[in-house]
Amino acid sequence: MQFVHDWLPQRVVFATGGAPEAVAEEVRRLGASRVMAIASGRDRAEPVLAGVPVVVRHPEVAMHVPVDVAERARAVAAEHEADAIVCVGGGSTTGLAKAVALTTGLPIVAVPTTYAGSEATDVWGLTEGGRKTTGVDRRVLPAAIVYDASLMLGLPVPTSAASGLNALAHGVDAMWGPRADPIDRSLALEAIRSLTVGLPSVVDDPTGLDGREQTLFGAYLAAVAFASAGSGLHHKICHVLGGMFDLPHAQTHAVVLPHVLALNAPSVPDLDRRMAQAFGTHSALAGLLDLRARLGAPTSLRALGMEGADLAKAVQPIVDASPSNNPTPVTPRTVEALLHAAWEGREPT
Ligand code: NAD
Repeated sequence: MQFVHDWLPQRVVFATGGAPEAVAEEVRRLGASRVMAIASGRDRAEPVLAGVPVVVRHPEVAMHVPVDVAERARAVAAEHEADAIVCVGGGSTTGLAKAVALTTGLPIVAVPTTYAGSEATDVWGLTEGGRKTTGVDRRVLPAAIVYDASLMLGLPVPTSAASGLNALAHGVDAMWGPRADPIDRSLALEAIRSLTVGLPSVVDDPTGLDGREQTLFGAYLAAVAFASAGSGLHHKICHVLGGMFDLPHAQTHAVVLPHVLALNAPSVPDLDRRMAQAFGTHSALAGLLDLRARLGAPTSLRALGMEGADLAKAVQPIVDASPSNNPTPVTPRTVEALLHAAWEGREPT
């Protein structure tokens, strides 16, 4: 065996029902006394911030972190001389905290309320003029994460399902991402197992803690694996589609993932077998399709509002962005066929 695995330094606290105490403790550990709180959902955030020395609350959060939104948040941090950030919310909220940390170096305590997983990566993203730029920087990695599954009990079922499949996409893409190593694959397989158990429970019992906890744990593992393995073909496709056509992030993942799995799995039979075991089915694709159907998640790009005439525009950017070590060679023809099938909502075979 020969590989190098670079762990990201981060404290991870699972504290179901205990976020207020856990967040206060993480802020104390940082020695912070002037916290900028970033949160769009005030009702969810307020109890979490009860024991935190907040100097300013910043509620302006927007999907894909537009540059002007980031600039305003940075100005607020400077104006109030913040010495740390606590963000409470989904990937868009964490993304804004990261945008502030990128230029200020402020440490972040992240309290996620979806399964997006951004809190466990050192990847930032900003959008300007319809183009999303991403980068990797250790400054944006939250110093600590506090996971409290009880904060998710109100996340609507369709959003939970799509967000959970976004997490699953981190796990699946980590199996063959450009830097995927055996540790990433072990984490990703355990993530697939947890999400396969957790997500149907969330749909059956959205206010039950067991499913929420399992899903959150799986989402965390998947994000860690993904951060190390790097963006595989699936994420490159979603990134191009999201940036060009402003499609909803998590739902786009739910639609595209089975098509990428169908393309890659035949080229990596051993990984397919291991993923199938994690899904508890005879093939990884069957497991994913069963799960997606069980969750009632979206199946076509058309239903997400994408115009058929736009498909051709995305082909070359996806080919250009695809990792050179993708298990199945990526050509304009394969991408075109994949996009058409995903747009129509055809079930991949
Ligand atoms: P989001 O943060 O936009 O949240 C989706 C919706 O759910 C919002 O309306 C939000 O207010 C609501 N919501 C959040 N938590 C809730 C709760 N507990 N109860 C009720 N409603 C709740 O969406 P997302 O899917 O979490 O994140 C998507 C963004 O994250 C994208 O911009 C994506 O690029 C980014 N992302 C980044 C990384 C990374 O590593 N940098 C990883 C994954 C996602």
